[in-house]
Amino acid sequence: MTFTAPETTHYVPKDLPTHIRHFINGRFVDSVSGKTFDVLDPVSNGNYATAAAGQKEDIDLAVAAAREAFTNGPWPKMKPRERARVLNRIADAVEAQEERLAELETFDTGLPITQARGQALRAAENFRFFADLIVAQFDDAMKVPGSQINYVNRKPIGVAGLITPWNTPFMLESWKLAPALATGNTVVLKPAEFTPLSASLWAQIFKDAGLPDGVFNLVNGLGEEAGDALVKHPDVPLISFTGETTTGQTIFRNAAANLKGLSMELGGKSPCVVFADADLDAAIDSALFGVFSLNGERCTAGSRILVERAIYDEFCEKYAARAKNIVVGDPHDPRTQVGALVHPEHYAKVASYVEIGKTEGRLLAGGGRPENLPTGLNNSNYIAPTVFADVAPDARIFQEEIFGPVVAITPFENDDEALALANNTKYGLAAYIWTQNLTRAHNFAQNVEAGMVWLNSHNVRDLRTPFGGVKASGLGHEGGYRSIDFYTDQQAVHITL
Ligand code: NAD
Repeated sequence: MTFTAPETTHYVPKDLPTHIRHFINGRFVDSVSGKTFDVLDPVSNGNYATAAAGQKEDIDLAVAAAREAFTNGPWPKMKPRERARVLNRIADAVEAQEERLAELETFDTGLPITQARGQALRAAENFRFFADLIVAQFDDAMKVPGSQINYVNRKPIGVAGLITPWNTPFMLESWKLAPALATGNTVVLKPAEFTPLSASLWAQIFKDAGLPDGVFNLVNGLGEEAGDALVKHPDVPLISFTGETTTGQTIFRNAAANLKGLSMELGGKSPCVVFADADLDAAIDSALFGVFSLNGERCTAGSRILVERAIYDEFCEKYAARAKNIVVGDPHDPRTQVGALVHPEHYAKVASYVEIGKTEGRLLAGGGRPENLPTGLNNSNYIAPTVFADVAPDARIFQEEIFGPVVAITPFENDDEALALANNTKYGLAAYIWTQNLTRAHNFAQNVEAGMVWLNSHNVRDLRTPFGGVKASGLGHEGGYRSIDFYTDQQAVHITL
């Protein structure tokens, strides 16, 4: 069966599935219960597929398969070089399917197609990176001359539970899958229920690359059902979670009974601080990209822009003019810069913040649905890039994560006030600093409460650096060797000479 598009003019990829299944022990299967949930595409908001709604019994089957593959299968015992070959084949396959992956991701999430292509390539790069890392890995050995030699055995831990969100789903899944598999663990992935389409592609990619059955398992479903069962399963010693802070808190509580290893990448409300001596054009470019790329559905979005008073009016005027020129439209159109928000529920949330913002700030751009959308796109989840100025620090649009194309601009008088404003939220994921004064930049980086800081630069990642937040934005760091640490036990062995 193939999918018949509802009545809109937007692009629908060929050969869409009408039903999305789990993948357990090398086979696509439905939920034991037969339950399903509906999957919508964000342009028509039509129900284009059903997906298997994983329940506890499905998680039990997936964990049993992963545990068997871990205990008796070859994967954890393979030499790093052998595992690296499989990982490189996975990366090749992802790259080879870049166009298909991107069009499916765009269809399911509403991301602009040009940005979805980049996500597929980043996913491939994650596999290559961890393939290299495990081959180059060396472990510590410590000598006490004449009396002891001590060394470290690094071992995969077991079945890793991977729970991922709907923004850039395929890429964020790769972020967890690559290090978890590279280190010899087996996995159960529970992707976000809003966007299950691309996760199924992993199954064939992994099979073709030679990953043994049972090493990768996929259970679709709702967070409160499939996600909850995975978090509570006693045979899953690790949970790597990316999502909202409140969900992270629930998972933290639920994992406590079994004292699981937890890695939490949570929400953000990151400041972009622009000093009067900054390269203004570069700062404006970056501050636009920071909150309007990926539809604003970006954990590290610079969604609070703090601007030094001396350039405040000029900044606001230029920034708003640029925001008004951003092209909103069909995510598959290569001219589109902001596509459709992922789901009508999320659209309603973002739209409600736009209304709140009108009572809390001075509206400079956007403020609701864009005007003059092409026929057929009028009911989609579109929000025009929205800019509020003069936003006070106690405003909800200053404090709360909106996760859409909405930005709050606030003036500051001096460095101390800039820092106080930057740190004045419960979150601490990223910060962006624009100034020509490098002493100030480095001091600001030292004092700002953020897991990651970009100085005079765009949000571009180096895979070797730690990724994670402080305060309510996360717990632990992944990225580079830190991911290897999270997914392995480090056993100390002591020998008396
Ligand atoms: P979410 O917390 O609603 O859901 C994330 C995942 O958790 C989904 O798969 C969901 O099904 C599952 N889940 C929900 N309740 C659960 C429960 N009780 N037990 C187990 N699993 C459960 O988040 P979302 O709306 O999908 O994603 C957006 C959020 O993710 C934003 O807050 C964003 O900032 C954050 N995010 C953070 C990062 C980061 O690296 N820090 C990256 C991307 C997104």
